[in-house]
Amino acid sequence: KRVEFGPAEHGIDPSLLDERAVRVVTTLQDAGYEAYVVGGAVRDLLVHRRPKDFDVATNATPEQVKGLFRRAFIIGRRFRIVHVIHGRGRDHEVIEVSTFRAYLDASAAEQVAGNEKTSKAAIADKSHVVDASGRVLRDNVWGPQIEDAARRDFTVNAMYYDPRTQTVVDYHGGLKDAKAKLLRMIGDPLTRYREDPVRILRVVRFAAKLGFAIEPKTQKPLRETAALLANVPASRLFDEMMKLLQTGHALASLAQLKAQGLERGIFPVLDSVFSRTEEGGPRQKFIELALNDTDRRVGEGKPVAPSFMLACMLWHDVQNAWADLKAKGEHPTPALQQAIDSVFDARIGDISGRGKLAADMREIWMMQPRFDRRTGSSAYSLVEQPRFRAGFDFLRLRADVGEASPELAEWWEDFSLGSDADREALVEAAR
Ligand code: ATP
Ligand code: MG
Repeated sequence: KRVEFGPAEHGIDPSLLDERAVRVVTTLQDAGYEAYVVGGAVRDLLVHRRPKDFDVATNATPEQVKGLFRRAFIIGRRFRIVHVIHGRGRDHEVIEVSTFRAYLDASAAEQVAGNEKTSKAAIADKSHVVDASGRVLRDNVWGPQIEDAARRDFTVNAMYYDPRTQTVVDYHGGLKDAKAKLLRMIGDPLTRYREDPVRILRVVRFAAKLGFAIEPKTQKPLRETAALLANVPASRLFDEMMKLLQTGHALASLAQLKAQGLERGIFPVLDSVFSRTEEGGPRQKFIELALNDTDRRVGEGKPVAPSFMLACMLWHDVQNAWADLKAKGEHPTPALQQAIDSVFDARIGDISGRGKLAADMREIWMMQPRFDRRTGSSAYSLVEQPRFRAGFDFLRLRADVGEASPELAEWWEDFSLGSDADREALVEAAR
C-alpha cells in the first residue's frame, strides 16, 4: 500500500539534499516523467545524515533519460542504468538514474528466461534471468513504482523522495523502521537472500554503518545462506568487501560480521585477518590500529587508499610466508617477492582490473626492509620513491605496535622532511 508522508512526518532537512540530484529529478519531471530520489539517500536523509551519493528512480527508460542530459551514459548489462555526469575532473559527480523495475519472483523470472530462449530479440531489452540457486543474473524488466519498491532489499532502502513536493513515498513501512532504527528485509528473507546473496553482506554493512538493529526474521537466515556467497562472482564480492572496509565503519563492520558468525569462509582476505592462530595477537592489533585510522580519515573526509588498507590486512600473511622462505635459505629480497606472490594467489586471486592495486601493495611491502638501511645513497633513493609516503605510514604503524622501533620511524620522518644539511647529519648520526 502506497503511503505519502509530508515534511512534518518525515522531518527531512532539505539542506542535506544535493542540488544536482534535485536538478536531475526536476528535469525528468519537467519532461513529463515520474522521478524521485530513492534508496540509500532517502534512508540517510531520514536519519539526518548527508548521503554520500544520490540515486534517482524514474519511469523513463534509459534511452529517454539519456536524451534529456548533455552528459549521460547508459551503463551496465546485468542492471542497466544511466550515469548523469556533472562537473569535470576531481570534483565531478555522478547521479545514477535507474528505471522503475518490475519485481519478479524466481519462478516468474524463470519464465521470462525461458521466453528469452525462444524469442530473444523480442525481449532483448527486457530480461530477468536466474541461475539454479535462484540468484538473479539480470534484472531489466521495467515496471510500476510499486514493484520497483518490492524488489529492493530493506524497507528503509525502498522509499522515494520528491524534492519538489517534499513528500516521501513508502510502500513497506520504511519510515517507521527508519525511526525505530531497524533493518527489515522486504518479503521473505530466505528467498531474498537466495535471489542475491550479496544482501547478506549488505545487511551487515548497513547495521554497522547506521547502528541499526537487524530485525529477527531478517537476521535468522544469515548463517545458513552464507554458503551461497560462493556463487557470487569474485569481483563483486571483492567490491562488497571494500565497501565494508572503506566507508568509514570498517571496525564496526568486522565486529558485525563476527557477531553474525560470518567473519571466516567468505572473504579470503578476512580469513587471514581472523585466522585462529592470530586471535588476539599483536598482528590483529596492527590491523585494528590501521582500520581505526582508516575510519577516522573517512570521518574527516580524507581519502583512504585501498592498497594501504589491504597491505595492512595481509601483512602478517606476507611476514609468515617470508619467514618460511628465509628459513629455507632464500635471500631476503627474492624471498619477500615470492612471499608476496603467494599471498596474492591465496588471498586476492586474479580479479581483473586490480593490477594497480596489487602493484601499490607490493611497493609498500617491498619498502619495509629498505627502511632498515640508513646509509646515504639508499636513504636518498628510498625517499624519492613516489610511494614513499605510503611505505612510511606503514612503517609508522609497525612502530606503533612495537614491530619496528619508534626511533627508526622518527628518523625517517625527520629525513623525509629535512633539508639537505639535516639529511646529511641524520645519515652521519645513523652510522
Ligand atoms: P550506500 O549508502 O552504500 O550507497 P545504498 O542503499 O544507496 O547504500 P546502493 O548499493 O547504492 O546502496 O543501492 C541503491 C539502492 O538500490 C538501495 O538502497 C536498494 O534500494 C537498491 N539495491 C541495491 N542493491 C540491492 C540488492 N542487492 N538487492 C535489492 N536492492 C538493492
Ligand atoms: Mg547509494
